[in-house]
Amino acid sequence: MSYQSAKEEIKQAADIVSVVGQFVQLRKAGKNFMGLCPFHGEKAPSFTVNQDKQMFHCFGCKKGGDVFDFWMAYHSLSFPEAMRDLADRYNVRLPEKHFTAEEKKKADYRENLYKVNELAAAYFQKALAHPAKGKAGRDYFKKRSISPDIIEEFRLGYAPEGWDGLKQFLLGNKVSLETALAAGVLKRSEKGHYYDMFRGRVMFPIMDLTPKKRIIGFGGRVLEDTLPKYVNTPETPLFHKGTCLYGFSASRKAIRETGRAVLVEGYMDCLALRGHGLKEVVATLGTALAEAPVRKLKGIGKEAIVVFDADEAGKAAALRTLPIFLNEQLSARAVVLPKGHDPDSFINSEGREAFSKLLDAAPSLFDFYVDQKLKSGSQNIERKVSILEEILPIMAKVRNETQRALYLKRLSEKTDVAESVLLSALRSKQSVVKDHIKKDTKHQFAAVNVTRSIGEIQLLNLLLHYPETVADLKDRHCRMLISDPTIRRIVDIIFDVHGHSEPITFETIQERLDRDEDRVWLREFGFRPAFCSDREVKQAVCDFIAKAQEEGIANSFKKAMGDPQAINEILKRKVQAGRAVEN
Ligand SMILES: [Zn+2]
Repeated sequence: MSYQSAKEEIKQAADIVSVVGQFVQLRKAGKNFMGLCPFHGEKAPSFTVNQDKQMFHCFGCKKGGDVFDFWMAYHSLSFPEAMRDLADRYNVRLPEKHFTAEEKKKADYRENLYKVNELAAAYFQKALAHPAKGKAGRDYFKKRSISPDIIEEFRLGYAPEGWDGLKQFLLGNKVSLETALAAGVLKRSEKGHYYDMFRGRVMFPIMDLTPKKRIIGFGGRVLEDTLPKYVNTPETPLFHKGTCLYGFSASRKAIRETGRAVLVEGYMDCLALRGHGLKEVVATLGTALAEAPVRKLKGIGKEAIVVFDADEAGKAAALRTLPIFLNEQLSARAVVLPKGHDPDSFINSEGREAFSKLLDAAPSLFDFYVDQKLKSGSQNIERKVSILEEILPIMAKVRNETQRALYLKRLSEKTDVAESVLLSALRSKQSVVKDHIKKDTKHQFAAVNVTRSIGEIQLLNLLLHYPETVADLKDRHCRMLISDPTIRRIVDIIFDVHGHSEPITFETIQERLDRDEDRVWLREFGFRPAFCSDREVKQAVCDFIAKAQEEGIANSFKKAMGDPQAINEILKRKVQAGRAVEN
C-alpha cells in the first residue's frame, strides 16, 4: 500500500465528526456541526465541522483543516506522529515513511524526547520497586494510602537521592546528555556538569490525551515537608505546564460519562480520590489554573467542581478560578472542605460517601465567590461598593442572558442592593465588554467579505458546488471575470485539474494552493451552501458565459481603438455571440 492510500484509508475510517467529537461537544447545525473552539476562548460557537468535506474550520481563530490537522493541533503533535496515532487507532497499516527531511528531523527529535521520558519513567518505577533504594518512596505512598493498583495505573515512581542515578541509566541506554537535558530530566551546572533533575522525590508522570498516553513531563514531590514541595519538568518542546492537568488522560472517559470534572490542587489529592473510586478527577500542577485546560475540560464535561483546601491560600486559589470559568463558560461549583482538611485527608478519614455528599451539595462557584467576599470584612456600605466593583466586570462577561439574570438576582439578595440598580451598573460595564467583542468580530470577518465582488464569489461557489459546470465555464474564458488574486488562483487550479483523471475535490484544491492564507480563505468559503438551486444552475452558467463574452468584447474594443476593420470584426462576433447565448 502506498503512503497516500494509507492516508486515504485512515481518512475513510477516522470520521472527522467522531474524532473531533471525542474532544469537543458538537451540535448539529444545518449541514455542519458546531461547537466551542478548543483553540481559542469563545462564548458563542464558531468552530465548525463538515462531515461531507471531512474538514473543520474555526471562524474565530481561522484554525482548520482535515482530521490530521485537528489531531496535530489538539495534541500538539507533528504530522508523522498524528499519522501514526490515527493509523494505530483505526487499524491501518502504515507503509515505511515518506516524510520530508524537515518533517523527519522534527519528528525524530520529538520522538527522542518521548523515549527519554519513557526511559526515565521506567527508571523511577524500577527504583520504587527496589527493596532498599525504593523503601522511602514505598513508605510514603503507603502512609498516604496509595494502593499498588494506583501506583501501577499512574506509573508512579521514585527518584532516589544522589546526583547521577538517572544520568548513568540514560547513558547506559545510549541517550545523549543533550537530549536528556532537552527532555528536562537532567540539568546542567554552570560548569557544564550534567546531573539528575529529580532527587529524593516520589514521581508522577504526566501523560497526554492521546490513546497512547505518551509521557510529556513529570511532577516530583518531596517526602517530608521541605521546600519546594513540588517540582515539575521545565518547559520543553513536549511539556507546557499551563496547558496540562494531572490525571486528565485517566479521567477523560469518566468525565464524559458523569458530565463533571472534579478539580483539585495536587497530585496526591487526585490520586487519593481516585483510590476511593472517584474517577472523574483532575489536578492542577501546583500552579494557578489557566484557560487552556479549562477549554479542554469543557469540550468533554458539562461542569467542573472545584475542591480546594480549607486554608486561606486554598480559598484564594478557588476564588481566582471564577473569571476563568465565566470566561470559558464552563459552569462551576465549589466545595469547601471542613477546617484543617484537604481532599486527601478528608476522603481518607471520612470516606467516599461523605465526600460525594459534599460534591452534590456544592454551591455554584459564583455564590461561593460572593459569599467569601462578603464574609471577609465588615458589611458597611463602602465595603459593599468595593465588592460590587470587583464582581460586576466579571459578570459583564457572561453572555448567557438567563444565567446573567439569575446571578443578578442572587447578587441582589446577598448584598441587599435592588436588582434594577445592579442592572444599570452592569449595563455600563457591559457596553465596554461589547465594544471589545464588536471590534473582535469585525476584525475576524472583514478579510472574507469586503474585498471580493459578488460576481466572482458566485462564480466560485457555482464551480465548487456543481463541478459539472466546469467544462462550460472553462471553455468560455470566464477567468477574465475574476480580478481577486485568491479566487483567481483557486479557479486556475479548478480549470487546470479539469480533464485530468484526478477528480476536482475540495481537498485537491487545498493541496495545490501554495499560500496558507488562500487555504484558510477557501476553507471558510467552502462552508457556505450553494447560492443557487439545482434548477437555477443552467441559467447561472448562461449568465456567466454571456458576461464573459461581453467582457471579452469590451476588452477587444479597447485594444482595437482606431482600427475600423478590427472593430467591424468585433461587432460581427458580438452579434454571433448574442445568437449563441439565445440558443
Ligand atoms: Zn478558534
